Amino acid sequence: MTLYQLAAEQIWNLPVERLTLYHLRSNTPCSCGPRDETRLVEASHLVSEVGKNIAEKRFPAVENQYCPCDFPEYCPYYRHQVVPELKETDVLRGVKVGEAAERYASLQSQIKELESQLEEVKQIIIDLCQAERLSRVYGIENAITYKMVERLGFGEDGVRALLEPDGLWQRVLSLDQARMKQLVDDEAVAGDIRHKLEALRQVVASYP
Ligand code: SF4
Repeated sequence: MTLYQLAAEQIWNLPVERLTLYHLRSNTPCSCGPRDETRLVEASHLVSEVGKNIAEKRFPAVENQYCPCDFPEYCPYYRHQVVPELKETDVLRGVKVGEAAERYASLQSQIKELESQLEEVKQIIIDLCQAERLSRVYGIENAITYKMVERLGFGEDGVRALLEPDGLWQRVLSLDQARMKQLVDDEAVAGDIRHKLEALRQVVASYP
């Protein structure tokens, strides 16, 4: 609807007072007011971005609930599954890719299981050491030491009061990515600020 409004205003020079979507099966019109300036600017940016990607022949595959589509042989997510030659010829250091994938999944699930067992045994040892006031417990060949580890940090109010007068406060501040995400998702924050923040999101690191 936003694109139709842009078209009507920019191509036909018609001011848009109302947007109406006709649901044809039930013959029901659904109307709302026109999009505001922020939404129109966002839609224009989206169109420019899509147009740029088309011009540069960039079509990254984005998985969705309807995958696989009718073109799995061109898709980086499904090509390996549907192109037989790829399966037969694909060999890495003597291990077939399919076998490597199975091994990887199996190791990951073993690690998860072991981590859960480790956590359980650790908690048993902690409970015992705390109950019996022990700092070490002994097995046949191994001993496990129990110790409270303290992490040191700075209290924000005190540090700020000390550094701010000398202009040093900014030097210890840095952008917290997790908090930024919380802010973007927080519905109590004004919508246009969240949209503008979302538009500033970019890749800051990539790894395989
Ligand atoms: S299967 Fe089709 S729709 Fe799904 S990611 Fe691949 S190309 Fe895109």
